[in-house]
Amino acid sequence: PDDVKRQKIENLLAQMRLSAATARKIQDVFRSEMNKGIHQQPSSLQMENTYIPELPDGTEEGLFLALDLGGTNFRVLLLELVNGVVVREDVKKYHIDAHLRTGSGMPLFEYLAECVSNFVISEGLQDVELPLGFTFSFPMIQHSLETGILVTWTKSFNCPDVVNKDAVQLLKDAIARRGDTRVNVLAVLNDTTGTLLQGATQDPNTAIGLILGTGSNACYLERADKVEHWEPERHGEREVIIDIEWGAFGDNGVLDFIKTDFDRENDANSLLVNSFTFEKYISGKYLGEFVRVILAKLSKDGLLFTRQVPESLLLVGSFLTDYISLIEQDTVNGSSVHTKEVLAKFNIIPDEEDLKIVQYVCELASNRAALLVSICVATLLDHMEREEVTIAVDGSLYKHHPRFENWMNQYITLLTPARKFKLIHAQDGSGKGAAIVAAIALRIK
Ligand code: ADP
Repeated sequence: PDDVKRQKIENLLAQMRLSAATARKIQDVFRSEMNKGIHQQPSSLQMENTYIPELPDGTEEGLFLALDLGGTNFRVLLLELVNGVVVREDVKKYHIDAHLRTGSGMPLFEYLAECVSNFVISEGLQDVELPLGFTFSFPMIQHSLETGILVTWTKSFNCPDVVNKDAVQLLKDAIARRGDTRVNVLAVLNDTTGTLLQGATQDPNTAIGLILGTGSNACYLERADKVEHWEPERHGEREVIIDIEWGAFGDNGVLDFIKTDFDRENDANSLLVNSFTFEKYISGKYLGEFVRVILAKLSKDGLLFTRQVPESLLLVGSFLTDYISLIEQDTVNGSSVHTKEVLAKFNIIPDEEDLKIVQYVCELASNRAALLVSICVATLLDHMEREEVTIAVDGSLYKHHPRFENWMNQYITLLTPARKFKLIHAQDGSGKGAAIVAAIALRIK
């Protein structure tokens, strides 16, 4: 672009850049919100006690069932653990119709129990006592390892009469009403906790679980004596996994100082306005839309696609986060093949300058996301004060974005140079983690 145009673009995009001072301020706010959450004071961070007091120690053995609700698919899994490692896994995916996801809760839980029976009987295990771990990836309040009071539905679920009810009890009741299996629901967890547990089977230093998929969340191993919310009688636990629920970080306004006009528009275009603030800066469900908002603005201002203002780009939700990964691949390779392919979906025939600008916007948006995640992870590492921490990560954004992992390694190192950490990819924590937590539950019973 010529100098005037370049300056105009830079001026518009400058809001997205986070200075070192801003990064420190975000760290301060995150630390303060964590402390408030853990001391049960009002905070945008729930800091929920998961009541999981141990990591797998390599002695976990046997057959376990896992239910995974809240990810892309509803799944029932049978996992066999030997020496704490999954050696066999049978998985069946079940479709949940829209009327079950959005109606009354009773038919939904009847259906979940029906799927469990169907699966167990197909495995010929109806007469075998089977411990079950329930991955329920929604915000919940836990009174124990086996209670999960739904705070609010998210994603594509909305059965209003389940809010404030115990999802585990609803599942147990539905299984008991059928009476055709010997399934024992022992524990509830979410995908983030499952990722930490699965990571711990790969690397014993694992003490943080992180999800970067449709949404984003993290959990970590906390010293038990720091945790105030602890309902059932304690049994000398030294540590416990705390679910931060950081998708909602900033819902109380504490993060407004980094909000750009583009973020405000992204929020206004979302289903749940004024909530999941942090998630809207970083996760797969929102990052693509954030980029679309910026591209549309540049185009309206005559700075991009000047030969045409593409109507197709004005459609909310049309720009997927997957496209960002593709375009970033081009930036890494010094190519423009994918960028052209993506723009072709919008009937845009870009010139050289357009390609560069689109790539630049995708880079800035995803770089800011990686920096924000790193700021919180670095703060967490400082808070935990451990020798060495391995961070178990899962989710499509992390897996498929070509630079996210590198950026995180660089930024976390910059922000907390003295801390030893490692990022590992823990695959399918929501399945395997559920079996592991059921095994731990059996052990500590
Ligand atoms: P979950 O829904 O359980 O979080 P995933 O971790 O697979 O499942 O995340 C799916 C989300 O990740 C999609 O909604 C999309 O926003 C994002 N996503 C999918 N593919 C990619 C990709 N190639 N690059 C970046 N993000 C992606």
